[in-house]
Amino acid sequence: MTNLAENKSQETTIPDMKDIVALCKRRGFIFPASDIYGGLNGFWDYGPLGTELKNNIRDLWWKAMVVTPPIGPDGEPLQIVGVDSSIIQNPKAWVASGHVGGFSDPMVDCRETKKRYRADHLDVLIPKDGEGAWIAVPQDDETGVEAKRLKKFGKGRSIGAFDRKELPDVSTNDYAKIIAPDASEVGTLTEPKEFNLMFETYVGATQSEDSKAYLRPETAQGIFLNYKNVLDSSRVKIPFGIAQIGKAFRNEVNPRNFVFRSREFEQMEMEWFCHGNEAAMWREFWTNERKSWWESIGIRGDAMILREHGKDELSHYAKAGVGTIDIEYQFPFTAPGFGELEGIAHRCDYDLTQHQEHSGTKMEYIDPMDNQNRFIPHVIEPAAGLTRGVLTVLCEAYTIDESRPSGMYMNFKPAVAPKKAAILPLVAKDGMPELATKIYMDLREDMAIDLDIKQNIGKRYARQDEIGTPFCITVDGDSLNDNTVTIRHRNTMAQERIAIDNLKAYLIEKLAAF
Ligand code: ATP
Repeated sequence: MTNLAENKSQETTIPDMKDIVALCKRRGFIFPASDIYGGLNGFWDYGPLGTELKNNIRDLWWKAMVVTPPIGPDGEPLQIVGVDSSIIQNPKAWVASGHVGGFSDPMVDCRETKKRYRADHLDVLIPKDGEGAWIAVPQDDETGVEAKRLKKFGKGRSIGAFDRKELPDVSTNDYAKIIAPDASEVGTLTEPKEFNLMFETYVGATQSEDSKAYLRPETAQGIFLNYKNVLDSSRVKIPFGIAQIGKAFRNEVNPRNFVFRSREFEQMEMEWFCHGNEAAMWREFWTNERKSWWESIGIRGDAMILREHGKDELSHYAKAGVGTIDIEYQFPFTAPGFGELEGIAHRCDYDLTQHQEHSGTKMEYIDPMDNQNRFIPHVIEPAAGLTRGVLTVLCEAYTIDESRPSGMYMNFKPAVAPKKAAILPLVAKDGMPELATKIYMDLREDMAIDLDIKQNIGKRYARQDEIGTPFCITVDGDSLNDNTVTIRHRNTMAQERIAIDNLKAYLIEKLAAF
């Protein structure tokens, strides 16, 4: 019998982003939003398979957090409950959280090209000999802008003849010497301006300052706003968590890299309320848990790194000086570097204290064992992007394999794969479609099954490889006589014959063991 090992070691060749984006459109994972109107920058729609993939990741997170939370250091299961809060909340909540005053990015505009940049995403090449223009280049240079600009404005000097600085580190007095990306003249960049990332809207019939509200820029605040209600209505005791999955909106200056940075996206966040003395321990606990979880859904451990935020990156709430640890993934557009997938933040008692002050509602926790002991809990927050997670899973699964007609396959773990198996009659006649439909009806209660009847079989296999279906089940002429089918394994392309009566048990076992 052929070797049926499913976990063929993954090719480490990094796929091209263009190919991933094209596959997503061609097979129905992700489309540009309002595609027929030319799209809308920073907005994306999930197609039939992308929705299944996203829902699978979402459900696995919910299960790992809320349904079967991890076992804690004391050997007992942790307590985590879920909420689903409004996207629009009382605007005072966003004043208290610091988002109205501080949720902004420094931006610069180019007067010549009318392009807008995040100042902290531009680098400046400064000639060491002081001669000639200072050349601004994007930090994540996807299209080789830097080399082109150097050739055009570098006066024949190589990169070694320049010092490199981030734009925010350059004095605005020196802006007159800078030539912006794509510009032809020097001195066209404006000074950085703070730009608030929250989308505004109005509640009710009149549009005035009084009716102004915001689309939430994170799901976390909806949890803090419900902390008191959850505490009063459920039986949770410190330490415990509240989890939420949902949409968040940020009017990002430069949405880019497909769904990596979009203006509407989904987050999976959990606020872990604990005593301040234990917060550092829990931050470590959750960092390890979360990295293992990404591995459990198919992300290679060595494609991720943990990065502790530097002092200059500390968030407004990180008052204890213990900041965020990011779990970063090696995306095709960051390689050989890494980009943030999830942050595990130590929010201290910042949010609850702020909401207590602004709302006048007490946020103290009273220890039920000792009524004298009142404190505002500290919070450790594993905050992941669901849509960024979808992108990560797509990038990780994309496996180049020139030996097959599709040239690649999606190596999804079955748990995230949109379809677990496809039933394919060899030809659309002679009773084969009927038997295929019967098998489909029998399996579909147990797993997501695709039934694909027409087209040549090679093309149908190629399609299933592209959408990452672990198993193809082919019904042929013999199936009608001997009640057997052929199973084709996605990763190895090995085929074997199996009795239809054993099919369900076989698939359940193989999918679990993948
Ligand atoms: P960045 O520094 O990249 O702007 P952040 O550190 O502000 O992101 P958080 O506020 O910690 O991000 O959000 C938690 C998670 O939400 C991020 O790790 C990321 O996965 C996701 N996320 C944040 N902004 C976006 C976005 N614009 N598009 C898609 N996902 C996002």
